[in-house]
Amino acid sequence: MTDQISSVSAPTTMDKVIDRLRARSLQTGGARQMYEKTIAGLDGPRVRFTDGTNPLMLATYDYLGLLDDERINQAVKDAVDTFGTGGHGSRVWGATLTLHRRLEQEIAEWVGTEAALVFASGFVTNFSVIASLAGPGDWLLSDQRNHASIVDGCAAAKSAGAVVKVYRHNDAAHLEELLTQAPPDAARVVVTDGVFSMDGNLVDLPGIAETCRRRGALLFLDEAHSLGVIGPHGGGTPDHYGLPNAADLVMGTLSKSIPASGGFVAGRHDLIEALRFTTRAYVYTGAPSPPNTAAALAAIRLVRQEGDQRRARLRRNLDRLLHRVRQEGLRTTDTGSAIVPVILGENAVAIEVSRLCQEQGLFVLAAVPPLVPAGTARLRLNVTAAQSLDDIDRTVDIIAAAVRRVGAGSLVAT
Ligand code: PMP
Repeated sequence: MTDQISSVSAPTTMDKVIDRLRARSLQTGGARQMYEKTIAGLDGPRVRFTDGTNPLMLATYDYLGLLDDERINQAVKDAVDTFGTGGHGSRVWGATLTLHRRLEQEIAEWVGTEAALVFASGFVTNFSVIASLAGPGDWLLSDQRNHASIVDGCAAAKSAGAVVKVYRHNDAAHLEELLTQAPPDAARVVVTDGVFSMDGNLVDLPGIAETCRRRGALLFLDEAHSLGVIGPHGGGTPDHYGLPNAADLVMGTLSKSIPASGGFVAGRHDLIEALRFTTRAYVYTGAPSPPNTAAALAAIRLVRQEGDQRRARLRRNLDRLLHRVRQEGLRTTDTGSAIVPVILGENAVAIEVSRLCQEQGLFVLAAVPPLVPAGTARLRLNVTAAQSLDDIDRTVDIIAAAVRRVGAGSLVAT
């Protein structure tokens, strides 16, 4: 009898697991459905959701406006005709296609390195390559605001015996101080985002790269939001700063300005080949699919051919957006990237503003903890080359009206 009662009331392992997961989830204040809309189709810079709405998309990583480009779509169809939709298994088990080889070669040419290695996703690239790079006793130093995939890669390296240190955001002096504490014979690897994804700001590459050089550390640079997008030639943060060889390993994703999915690292041939047969997410997983690989390859070719015009349009849109947002008295910064944060403060305010914008045909989302620190909830706008100036003006009009309606007078910069 007693047993029966306790088995009914005591939380089961399933209850405990679900409770713990809920405690860590996005603090969306009950507005989770807003974050989980389902896209039924595309319409230029707009999306068609299954709920019948057709908003302008300001929460997209399609920075260069290449998503749904008919030349990329055609390359995918051709690849499916030649190779089918899937593969034969792992790249190291006979499944490498000509497409994979070409993609790796053209990524290396694009980034300006000797070689490149492609993975199934950007997250997995960071996670697995970072875990491979630092072994027992090696020192791994990571910026405080690095992406979750880097944080998890560092945790994996730590559990394998690496020493992990987190340096203050973009603080080269703190990095230097930590590097001086490493034993002289320890290998040192420094990992940083090129563009920090929630604030949109750039790495202090001159400071961080110089510190690495002086202290003999290898620099791993995550260019997920910057390759193709920033720098006079679209070469990312090294191009922006005029430091083409600042990083030893450049990581990039194939899911943002390149509208496919996957990730890569690019660097010296001997390092890349050493990673190829050791990185677990390369060895123990199926090769990227033919359609996906073909999409990435076709997109990289287009970025190399048409990048200048697309970046010029993107810059024009960014300038207009920043100008108009400031004119409305909202708090933002010119981050140097295509990510524009509009800081609103409280989660509930940011979520309500986002909801009102969506009602008016503008899809923007509020970034809330744990994505951003508490008290800094924000709208996170992504500008792209596909948007028109009218789209940008409408975006700001809708946001400004929503902020006024929520009555967030204190949100406005003084
Ligand atoms: N690095 C950074 C800085 C990112 O912002 C992201 C994803 N937003 C990734 C890596 C992971 O890339 P992917 O989405 O291709 O897995």
